Amino acid sequence: MDARMKAGNHRPEVRLRGIAAAPGVARGPAYPLMRGMAIVSCEKVADPEAEIRRLEAALLATRQQISQLRDDVARKLNESEASIFDAHLLVLEDVALIDDVSKEVRRSGFNVEFCFQEVAQRYIEIFEKMDDDFLCERASDIRDVTGRVLDQLLGTQPERVGQAAQAHVVAARDLTPSDTAGLHDGGVLAFVTEEGGRTSHSAIMARSLDVPAVVGVKGLMEAVQEGDVLLVDGESGLIVINPTAETIEGYRDKELAIRTRRDRVLSEVSLPDLTTDGSAFSLQANVGDPAEMEDALAYCARGVGLYRTENLYLRLDGWPDEQVQYDEYAEVVKAAKGRPVTFRTLDLGGDKRLGDLADEANPFMGYRAVRLCLERPDVFRPQLRALIRAATHGPVQVMFPMISGVEELRRAKEIFRDVEAELAREGIRPAAPIRLGAMIEIPSAAAVAAELAAESDFFSVGTNDLVQYLLAVDRGNQRVASLYDPCHPAVVRTLIAIFGAAQDRGIPAAVCGELGGDPLWAPLLIGLGVHELSMTPAALPEVRFVLRHSAAPELRELAAKVVACADAAKTRALLQDFASAKLKLR
Ligand code: PEP
Ligand code: MG
Repeated sequence: MDARMKAGNHRPEVRLRGIAAAPGVARGPAYPLMRGMAIVSCEKVADPEAEIRRLEAALLATRQQISQLRDDVARKLNESEASIFDAHLLVLEDVALIDDVSKEVRRSGFNVEFCFQEVAQRYIEIFEKMDDDFLCERASDIRDVTGRVLDQLLGTQPERVGQAAQAHVVAARDLTPSDTAGLHDGGVLAFVTEEGGRTSHSAIMARSLDVPAVVGVKGLMEAVQEGDVLLVDGESGLIVINPTAETIEGYRDKELAIRTRRDRVLSEVSLPDLTTDGSAFSLQANVGDPAEMEDALAYCARGVGLYRTENLYLRLDGWPDEQVQYDEYAEVVKAAKGRPVTFRTLDLGGDKRLGDLADEANPFMGYRAVRLCLERPDVFRPQLRALIRAATHGPVQVMFPMISGVEELRRAKEIFRDVEAELAREGIRPAAPIRLGAMIEIPSAAAVAAELAAESDFFSVGTNDLVQYLLAVDRGNQRVASLYDPCHPAVVRTLIAIFGAAQDRGIPAAVCGELGGDPLWAPLLIGLGVHELSMTPAALPEVRFVLRHSAAPELRELAAKVVACADAAKTRALLQDFASAKLKLR
């Protein structure tokens, strides 16, 4: 067992406060993550045989490492504790596993790390699904050993979130999008981070994993140690290190209340998107991985309102070619079974960085998203080709992130139409015309919303960035997190201007930032005239419940009150009162 998983020490209880980032309460052994985890990139190699020789060397080095460990443990503890490593050594001698990796390297021409990780994952999944407890446990042996081999191949000693032997609470200074992009392992009970705000990408990721999270916890990494137990209250933003029996008991009622509320909202998840007086709205899902489509459909999303295409790049830590992208996009369109999928073109940059993007002094204001794409046709065109090819399988919309003005939108659309014509010449045509939209997430775009609306088929408002740029508050910086306040009247007024420009032109405006999935904000947004909200799948039941229990005039009345209110605290109270009454929280 990993040493850090041995919970139950006698250190005193410590309480720390942070920002509630994803709802729910969870408790479990702390998994302090000192660094990011290994992300294995996929690359074509010139000499597959040389890759296989690297594998042999890595296996040999790992064997030596484990034998050494075995001897140490036998000396310091006893022979029976040491025998666990015999099972690990057997994994290294598994001819089938090694053969499969070699075959995969020769077949695909990809680097050995990538093939090794793919094959190992397949083996782990096979063993995990076995009914026999003994065989099931073998999965963790394989995970442990293959992780070591991967370390050898990569020449690193990375921490691997979600691969600990036991369910755990991840505590980290920060989880970058690259850390979390490949993280759909069931072992994570909750997240706590020292950095970050409610809309930092690690918080968004926690919500998409449907686990409680608290971010921006000052002093976290100094306070948490291996062996601690962590209680995470994602509702109030409290974390308790080594909670006493009394604290745990005190939390039972809260856990029960959360569970009851969840059951209640889930019981209505499959009902139509209609207010009590029959006015229609549409709740869609934000998705960043084909695996998330299952949750999106389970929670009855009417479509995908935001597909974050950059997540594939982050998962691979590289630049996938057209075919790799097409495979993922087509999988998503097919999984949506006729529901529309809105793909956002590549939004790399900012905190979503690939290894080979140069460092910048102000990355959030730098070489990001559509700016990068317009300069890199070698990146943009293959992505557009992949998207248009995927649209042969079902309805697709495409939107461009970080549009700052009309010129940029025109250039992006021009390239899109050119690629579309190129594919048409090859006989490839989308199943339905692809509508092109602009993301409105930069204040300058909001200021020229009328002009942008004239050239867009739809708007999608990225409130995460819009609030950040409007208020000049870094969305991931814990020190200024209290200033990141969407209730600021400037935000409300800017939203009104954007929605008004869309309405004047008769184009739909959706909201795909985190405010769309916030049960406090959803009633206001619908009251302001928005028809479509897109959110992390786990947020769908609660938002649907609140809106389904509201009447359209009531939502408009709420919006009118907020519009008339120039005070952030009062706006917050109005929104809180409205949602609480619907969820009967009081
Ligand atoms: C946003 O900015 O609101 C948005 C949806 O995009 P991201 O969070 O990926 O920047
Ligand atoms: Mg954004």
